[in-house]
Amino acid sequence: MSRVGNAHKITRMTSEQSSRPDPTPTEAAVHGAARGGVTAALADLGSLVRIPGIAWPAFDQTQLQRSAEAVKALAEGTGVFDSVEIRTAAIPGTDEHGQPAILARRAARNGAPTILLYAHHDVQPPGDEALWQTPPFEPTVRDGRLYGRGAADDKAGIMAHIGSIRALTEAVGDDFDLGIALFIEGEEEYGSRSFAQFLNDNKDALRADVIVVADSGNWDSVTPALTVSLRGNAKFALTVRTLEHASHSGMFGGAVPDAMLATIKLLSTLWDADGAVAVEGLAVRDTDTPAYTEDTLRDEAGLLPNTTPIGAGTILSRIWNKPSVTVTGIDFTSVGAASNTISPEVTVVVSSRVAPGQSAADAYAALEKHLRANAPFGAELTFSEVDLGDGFLADTSGEAAEIARGAMHDAYGVAPVDLGIGGSIPFISDLVREFPQAQILVTGVEDPHARAHSPNESLHLDTFANALATEALLLARLNERKG
Ligand SMILES: [Zn+2]
Repeated sequence: MSRVGNAHKITRMTSEQSSRPDPTPTEAAVHGAARGGVTAALADLGSLVRIPGIAWPAFDQTQLQRSAEAVKALAEGTGVFDSVEIRTAAIPGTDEHGQPAILARRAARNGAPTILLYAHHDVQPPGDEALWQTPPFEPTVRDGRLYGRGAADDKAGIMAHIGSIRALTEAVGDDFDLGIALFIEGEEEYGSRSFAQFLNDNKDALRADVIVVADSGNWDSVTPALTVSLRGNAKFALTVRTLEHASHSGMFGGAVPDAMLATIKLLSTLWDADGAVAVEGLAVRDTDTPAYTEDTLRDEAGLLPNTTPIGAGTILSRIWNKPSVTVTGIDFTSVGAASNTISPEVTVVVSSRVAPGQSAADAYAALEKHLRANAPFGAELTFSEVDLGDGFLADTSGEAAEIARGAMHDAYGVAPVDLGIGGSIPFISDLVREFPQAQILVTGVEDPHARAHSPNESLHLDTFANALATEALLLARLNERKG
């Protein structure tokens, strides 16, 4: 597996006192303009939050169109783009089209690099509105946070992009050299079904030297982070069959294996006694992780008083760098319908998180091989509904990562952390495939209390201001780079 990553993070975290070079007059002007633009950016963010643009077909799709038009107007309002369009792409294998995305482009001049700014304007459904303290689509400020669906994920990402462009323009005028592409997707929460096709259709308009994916989070509300690794996922349905038909458990029980017995014995081979994954061929990434205590885990994950954590090694290595296997669904007789029957067949859904650096296809192959090798009593196994998404391991050796870290340090006043994420952003592997030369920076506006996807989603206002300033400084510094 790749060794790129955060092995040097610990030294950086402890050398936090090391001073940063003084900002140039241009950087100071951009930083000032970014701070001055926060109020306007939050007002525009509130207007976006009022539009319930949700890509699930059960929701009113005209709202998603309204949302796209609002973002298009914001992009046009910056005055820096040669073109701003709303576009869709076909969903491969269907005759449907994906949801409206905004694509804007400004050509680079005088050998300056081009940066692609990504975020998404669709949001998760609100869920049970009774669980919201204030209505999900009514932006509300409370205790230093802006509440509302999409206030963080990911409409704040859009406004960090727009706000940073405004700050650059205010400080240096609109005649700058940096090339900028803006891509605001409309279906991220619904699986980015046309994403790969969209990249393919618009390859020239999206081509960039640096890509900022503003859809992740920070270490906490005051400490910035560059997301350097994401786990992949491999999910599949497994059907275990042992009999041609069901039988009376009193007649044959004890002599024939029912499918549930075989399933329990088979699934139990996936983990060691301590709950760590025990599947040969599933990779582990070997790198340092920041300190994170068991008490914090207990609190954040809601462990019951006597429940113990599973796995071995540092807690964050288990979540960021090692695989996990979880059974997430089962088709079997329900409790109410249970009878004294020996069952012939069970289907379960197995969901695995894959260590960064291993392909999801390799991980799935290892899981299937393991299960076939361990099927008890000659049980028949059928695999179906295989769903694979590759993880991400950033190449942080590039200049863009160093510039981004410096910008974070200057904007937040604290050295950034290299963050791993236990979850997946599958479309990032599409970006890596389509633009292998680009340096990809995964950043974000969220903090650990943002509750993206949950009721009472919110944005920490100071984190947002610092994220906006970070991106403005990043633009300013890339603008000075000449090929
Ligand atoms: Zn998101």
